[in-house]
Amino acid sequence: MSEPASKPAAGTLTANIHLRWEDVDRTIPVPLPRGDCTLLDLLPAARAISHEATAVALEQARSQGREISCRAGCGACCRQLVAISVVESQSLADLVAAMPPERQSVIRRRFTDAIGRLEESELLDPHEAKGERSIVAADQGARDATLQGVGRRYFELQIACPFLENESCSIHPDRPIVCREHHVTTPAENCAKLYQVNVDRVEPAARLGEALARTADHVHGTGAFMIPLVLSLEWSEAHGPLLKKPQDGKVLFQTMMGELT
Ligand code: SF4
Repeated sequence: MSEPASKPAAGTLTANIHLRWEDVDRTIPVPLPRGDCTLLDLLPAARAISHEATAVALEQARSQGREISCRAGCGACCRQLVAISVVESQSLADLVAAMPPERQSVIRRRFTDAIGRLEESELLDPHEAKGERSIVAADQGARDATLQGVGRRYFELQIACPFLENESCSIHPDRPIVCREHHVTTPAENCAKLYQVNVDRVEPAARLGEALARTADHVHGTGAFMIPLVLSLEWSEAHGPLLKKPQDGKVLFQTMMGELT
């Protein structure tokens, strides 16, 4: 669910950014890193803008009589194919690496188990180089190989996100932007039957995760794709240092805003 942006950290300044979505104008405070920084340092700004873009969409939905049915303790959406930017993949990999050893091994084991199930199900090629592979329909032609078909097969496996515990997100303050943006207006129980019954989502006014992916490609040539969350750790092992190269923070922010529009 949406929540206010957190206070700016030391080494950041606050800029008032004017945003316009169709006929909606908003000026919001956005935390920006001072001087040189990495793309990871843009995450607080991206989250603040995403928060506002989601709030605008939720207000519009409510004004149309649509009520948000998401509720605490419902983790059905955390068994979907969650795709995130490489910037957020690296952020999650750093988060896991900073966990105490015992906790870290629990989380790493869940990532390994999830990947093992995808390989067994032929949604992931075990022979392809780690950090290069993605989830695909390995038996194209035999089954639905479209993006929606792959999403459906992933959901059928009911692989819980490695961070899901007791049907709640165990990394709530650090969860990816796409998780923050996700709100539905159909009955919550429909989400457990995704692809069988209708699930209406509220589309945010802007998708910051995708803007971050395009920014990473623009700045570091990563490719503008989104990564399945469960592949975050292996992507980071192969490519993580690329995102740690510092650049002028102002230029990075301007690049992200350019990719947003
Ligand atoms: S990061 Fe959290 S909210 Fe996002 S899919 Fe995983 S458990 Fe769910």
